[in-house]
Amino acid sequence: MQMEHKPGTDAAKNLERVKYRLVVMSGKGGVGKSTVAANLAIALSLKGHEVGLLDVDIHGPSIPKMLGLEERKITAEDGLLLPVFAMPNLVVMSIGFLLREDDTPVIWRGPLKMGAIRQFLEEVKWGDLDYLIVDLPPGTGDEPLSVAQLMPQSDAVIVTTPQDVALLSVRKSINFAKALKMKILGIVENMSGMNCPHCGKKIDLFKTGGGEKAAKDFAIPFLGPIPIDPRIVEEGDKGISFILSQDDSPVVRAFNQIVEKIEKHYEEMGEEV
Ligand code: ADP
Repeated sequence: MQMEHKPGTDAAKNLERVKYRLVVMSGKGGVGKSTVAANLAIALSLKGHEVGLLDVDIHGPSIPKMLGLEERKITAEDGLLLPVFAMPNLVVMSIGFLLREDDTPVIWRGPLKMGAIRQFLEEVKWGDLDYLIVDLPPGTGDEPLSVAQLMPQSDAVIVTTPQDVALLSVRKSINFAKALKMKILGIVENMSGMNCPHCGKKIDLFKTGGGEKAAKDFAIPFLGPIPIDPRIVEEGDKGISFILSQDDSPVVRAFNQIVEKIEKHYEEMGEEV
């Protein structure tokens, strides 16, 4: 007889030693959701937090490439899968580790995909973590919905870009998170203007500020803007995450400011308990 599976129950147990769970989501693909998830995870781990990064973006599992972990294999211990060590304080699990050939299109049937994702939440030895950052599939359809339902007590970080058609997709993401009773930690406006490589002055390539306005309209926090930097693409392709390759740049400062806001949020929450 097959046991009835109550979504989230086993994941809740497996994740009970994870203090904070953050799902990074976006209304559509290509806005920099994975870039934000990876760099937030690195920035938090550089500050001494124990961090897990889980990439369940089925259609574009880009985290292994961004972190130069493509050749790594998943191993098991005591019947549980072990996440891959990326750097001190940071372990990673990605659907990409299951797909060996670079260009293999993901044509898994729905149940198979969900099975793999469920396994990542229920049967990975995450251990004691301060933060588990989850790179969700883009959009607000069935896939992100099923994943989010498996993630008990998670808070949402919504990534958008200024050119996101009237920021309609942000609204969808906000409603999605609200419907799932997730707390929205805030909105990040990625690709928000660019700093002139010569004088450092900000150039608004597209009208910026839409993310902040949407946050105001919906009375949720604005975590900050991240400017465009072409080096993010170059570094990402070489498998070095941007934050690690730069000492100081507007993008690194932007990520650090966002991380400070996230830390502050949880510190204040802790004081309230
Ligand atoms: P998503 O996960 O939303 O599909 P990615 O994180 O994969 O998006 O980013 C899409 C592309 O945009 C990648 O090539 C990435 O390197 C690039 N990118 C993301 N953020 C920035 C940025 N702030 N400046 C320049 N390029 C960026």
